[in-house]
Amino acid sequence: MQFGGIRALDGLDLCIRQGEITALIGPNGAGKTTFFNCVTGIYKPTSGQIQLHLPNGNKAVLLNGLAPHKVTQAGLARTFQNIRLFPEMTVLENVMIGRHCRTNAGLLGAIFRDRKTMQEERETVARAFALLEKTGLATSADELAKNLPYGAQRKLEIARALATEPLVLLLDEPAAGMNPQETVELDRLICEIRNEGIAILLIEHDMKLVMSLSDHIFVMDYGKKIAEGKPEEVRRNTAVIRAYLGEEE
Ligand code: ATP
Repeated sequence: MQFGGIRALDGLDLCIRQGEITALIGPNGAGKTTFFNCVTGIYKPTSGQIQLHLPNGNKAVLLNGLAPHKVTQAGLARTFQNIRLFPEMTVLENVMIGRHCRTNAGLLGAIFRDRKTMQEERETVARAFALLEKTGLATSADELAKNLPYGAQRKLEIARALATEPLVLLLDEPAAGMNPQETVELDRLICEIRNEGIAILLIEHDMKLVMSLSDHIFVMDYGKKIAEGKPEEVRRNTAVIRAYLGEEE
């Protein structure tokens, strides 16, 4: 991904697997969020390929250049570094919106409220509520999203992403701003999602969380992959230590 004279992603080669937590780490400005933006259709990569291989063995879906809503429909969902909820809608409604890509009702259904539309809406409410229970937010279902504490807003973004029924979940700094108790709950939630068979890609600066959660870690610096491996391998890697702490250390 080239921005004028800046090559934000340079020959990056990553593979993310179903049922694994993969972390993408690196110093500030390494290109992590740019990678998320390329994968989720916000940026169109200058070159290269992003493929989604479906579990049923069908032909891979090429994601390059698809609009963000098409990428979501294909099976990728994300959360944002700077929380992006619908602040004036309730917690439940925020999650219901995530179901939009999996429902069929259109404008006419919304006006005439036919039986099929009503049934679909009841299912959407039930599924959204189940996700609020899973993320520990059920008691806040009727509150406005803007009134939730910061940590709960981050969890709500995860619930909304899960409502799209993703194959791949991309989490951009999910622990940012969370207190230690919330971080422990987040750790548990992410493991639970992984165990359901969803591929998780995590950008996170909380190294304790990254090291405890990840099955595999990719390390980036200046747009390039400088290391990859299991947490214990990455922790000992000299290129990684240099990128984080500088030459002398
Ligand atoms: P952080 O950990 O601070 O969030 P990051 O690893 O996510 O950093 P990016 O935000 O992806 O890093 O930025 C990578 C590089 O690309 C930086 O040099 C940044 O200035 C540049 N960059 C990102 N988006 C754009 C853009 N839209 N236009 C120009 N340059 C950009």
